[in-house]
Amino acid sequence: MTTHVFHRTPVRPAIATEARGIEITDETGKVYIDGSGGAAVSCIGHGDMRVVEAIAKQAATVEYAHTGAFTSPPAEELAEVLCNATTLPMARVFLVGSGSEAVETAVKMARGYHLARGDEGRFRVIARRQSYHGNTLGALARGGNFGRRAPYLPMMTEAHLVDPCFEYRHALPGETPETYGRRAADSLEAEILRLGPETVSAFLVETVVGATTGAVPPAPGYFARIREICDRHGILLIADEVMCGVNRCGPFFAIEDEGVCPDIVTLGKGLGGGYQPIAAAMCTAAVHDAFSDVGRSFINGHTYMAHPVACAAALAVQQVIRDDGLAERVAPMGTYLKQRLEARFGNHPYVGDIRGQGLFQAIEIVADRNSKTPFPATEAMASRIFAACRDIGLLCYPGSGTADGTIGDHLLVAPPYSVTTAEIDTIVERLGDGVDAGL
Ligand code: PLP
Repeated sequence: MTTHVFHRTPVRPAIATEARGIEITDETGKVYIDGSGGAAVSCIGHGDMRVVEAIAKQAATVEYAHTGAFTSPPAEELAEVLCNATTLPMARVFLVGSGSEAVETAVKMARGYHLARGDEGRFRVIARRQSYHGNTLGALARGGNFGRRAPYLPMMTEAHLVDPCFEYRHALPGETPETYGRRAADSLEAEILRLGPETVSAFLVETVVGATTGAVPPAPGYFARIREICDRHGILLIADEVMCGVNRCGPFFAIEDEGVCPDIVTLGKGLGGGYQPIAAAMCTAAVHDAFSDVGRSFINGHTYMAHPVACAAALAVQQVIRDDGLAERVAPMGTYLKQRLEARFGNHPYVGDIRGQGLFQAIEIVADRNSKTPFPATEAMASRIFAACRDIGLLCYPGSGTADGTIGDHLLVAPPYSVTTAEIDTIVERLGDGVDAGL
C-alpha cells in the first residue's frame, strides 16, 4: 500500500484497526498486548464505551468555542475534579493539548509569576541531564535527552542542566540512598549560585523519570532537599508528571509520596488516557494569585486549549478510574508486576536493574552486570528487543542507551490500571522471550 503520511519511521508502521482493553489488532489480524499503553498513555485500557459516549455527547453539544470568549462545563468540571484528585493544595488548572504544551505553559507561568511580582530578572530554567520534557523546541531545550536534542541543538536556547537522581548509575560505593539523594539535590544549589539566584525562575524536574532512563524513582529525601533549595532562592519547583502522573505510580501525583508540594505540576498522557489529546499545568493558589492580585492575564494561548471534547473525555476517564477503583489497583498490581519481573530477570546475565513505582516499571539491559557497562549504542539493543517483542505480540516502550555509556538501554512496562495478574504473567513471559531473542 502506498502512503502519503509522513511517518516518523523510515518504514511504514503496522496499521492499527481495533483496540480493546489491553489489546491492539493490526490490519493482518495480528493481536498485540499493549504492555506500556503506548508511552504510558492508556491508563484505563482501550475501547471503553463510557468514554466514547461522553465524547460523542459533548461533540453533539458544543464541539468548540474559543477560550478567548468561552469556557465550557467539562473544562470547569475537569479542573475541579483534578484539584480534588490530589492530596496537594493545587488551586488552578491550565488545560492544553499535549505534554510539551503543558511544559511550555509551566515554564511561561513561572516567568509570568515572577514578572507579576516585579521580579523581572528571573528567567532561567534549570533542568536535569537524563530527562525529557517534550518535543517542541522550548521543551526540548529544557530536557536532557541528548539523543532527541542532537539534530536541533543549533536552534536551541541556552539550557542549564544539573545532575540527575539515579542511584543505580550515579550513587558512589558505600553511599546510602539518603546521602546520595542529598548530593544529587545539592548540584541544583551549586548551579543556582553559579548562575546567580536572582536570574533563576524555576527548576523543572520529572518526579519519576520516564522516557530517558526508564522509570527511575527519586532517592529518599531528594525532593525534600530540592524544595528547601528552591525556597531558599525564591525559585519555583515544576514537577513534570506528564508520564508518571494521573495515578501511574499510585497517588494522583507521584510526588505526593515525597511529602513536598511543587508550585506547578504538569500532566498529560494518562489524563486523556489516549481517548483525546489533552494535558494540563496545575498550580497552587500562590502562583495563580500572583497574576490576579495585580490584574494580569497569563499570556499563553493555544487554539485548541481546554477543548470541550477533550475535556469531556478526560472527565470520563477520571470517572472510570473512580467507578472501577482503578487507582487503588495500581500499588498491588505494581508490586505483582515487579515480583514477576524480578522472578524472570533477577538472575538474567544481561539485565542490570529492575526499577519503578506502581505500574511504571522498567528493566535496564547491560553488557556486564558487575560493571553495569551498557551495550555500545551502535548495537541499538532497545530497538532490537522492542522489535523482537513486537514480533511475538508484545508492545513495550524502548529507551536507547547513550554513546557515552552513562545510560543503558531500557524497556518500559506500563500497562493499564485494569491489568490482570494473568495479563501481567503474559507480558513478563513475552518480554523475557523478546529480550532473549533480541540480544
Ligand atoms: N514530559 C514528559 C515527562 C514526557 O515523558 C513527555 C512525553 O513523553 C512530555 C513531557 C511531552 O509530552 P507530549 O509528547 O504529549 O508532548
